[in-house]
Amino acid sequence: MKIFVLNCGSSSIKYQLIDSVTKKVLSKGVLERIGAGGSFLKHYSIYDYAIEIKRPVANHTEGIKMVFEALTNKDYGVIKDVTEISAFGHRVVHGGEKFHEPVLINEAVIEDIKKCIPMAPLHNPANLAGIKACMTLMPNAPHVAVFDTAFHQTIPAKAYLYGLPYELYIKYGLRKYGFHGISHQYVSEMAAKYLGRELAELRLVTCHLGNGASVAAVKHGKSIDTSMGFTPLEGLVMGTRCGEVDPAIIPFLMDKEDMTGKQVYQYLNNKSGVLGISGLSSDFRDLEKASGNGDERASLAMDIFAYRVSKYIGAYAVAMGGLDAVIFTAGLGENSPVIREKICEGLGFMGACLDKGKDAVRDGIREISTDGCLVKLLVIPTNEELVIANETERICKNIVFL
Ligand code: AMP
Repeated sequence: MKIFVLNCGSSSIKYQLIDSVTKKVLSKGVLERIGAGGSFLKHYSIYDYAIEIKRPVANHTEGIKMVFEALTNKDYGVIKDVTEISAFGHRVVHGGEKFHEPVLINEAVIEDIKKCIPMAPLHNPANLAGIKACMTLMPNAPHVAVFDTAFHQTIPAKAYLYGLPYELYIKYGLRKYGFHGISHQYVSEMAAKYLGRELAELRLVTCHLGNGASVAAVKHGKSIDTSMGFTPLEGLVMGTRCGEVDPAIIPFLMDKEDMTGKQVYQYLNNKSGVLGISGLSSDFRDLEKASGNGDERASLAMDIFAYRVSKYIGAYAVAMGGLDAVIFTAGLGENSPVIREKICEGLGFMGACLDKGKDAVRDGIREISTDGCLVKLLVIPTNEELVIANETERICKNIVFL
């Protein structure tokens, strides 16, 4: 089967066409600045083609059409006709309490995804725009929604409820949902395979450290806690997001800086995190460089980031009653030995000891802990698109057998 995987933002479409048999990516790309002027498509194919097309794109439907043209282009396309695509897998950020696993999309599912918009006002409308565009253009193909929140639906109430009046949970669904579930699930499964053990017997802490970052406690294959919350703002200090802060800071800022609630929210989302602390950049590559040149605030931002990750690892070891492995993934988790070293500094007492020699090697899945140590430290590249393709195939096979 050829499966088209989409990850739609409000002004962007990221996509991959994956062969579900060989697991190969036949084509991938990103269309940016939809509806914003200056739209451009960066498209790559398995035949080593890299194409950049600049053309005005007003909305997601026009965008998907443009991607289809690239996929079927007679010079660099990988398919002759879009009907060769067997199914569509859509990443959906928020599935609320309704969705515990991927589902085949129909009108009722679309309505339920709409109901989650208040909890993900930036993401879900964009995901829906992509779903609607694809369903309009390919009405006869199956479309599957794979949710970022679904993996965390196993978190127990003692971990997902806030210390707020219970009525607010009933009235508004105010609770922790967690995100990056597709990635946490994937790296947990890969860790079990790599260690040659059953996932059902492992206690793992998975650290998805990218521009957005979260940590999850995965006990016996199920998420039992995670650092992100009602929205992706909670938890770790991130590229531009503050992570957890004392809630009293919000009215304080509204008062002192003469801001509205919405302005404070934007401030905490876009101007905070390591960007706000360093005053320099949200990108750890810049911070590492500046820190190397003696920039104290860049060093401080990295220390604060790493300290909070290590605190979560300790907390989740307690939550799971022990720890077998810590997994590092995503842009920063996979690529930065400097950050991994800082995170691992305090973990030795638990039997998690970093082997710096091993950590210098950069190649696929690898163990970076010292030989024979109690808690394994692993680097596992994430592959959310492959999970979406696999899940889409699984759901579609079920339809055939019904
Ligand atoms: P992601 O959101 O998973 O794409 O991760 C993007 C972030 O990973 C970037 O903003 C950087 O902070 C970080 N990153 C990527 N590559 C490196 C690297 N080689 N060294 C340090 N940080 C990196």
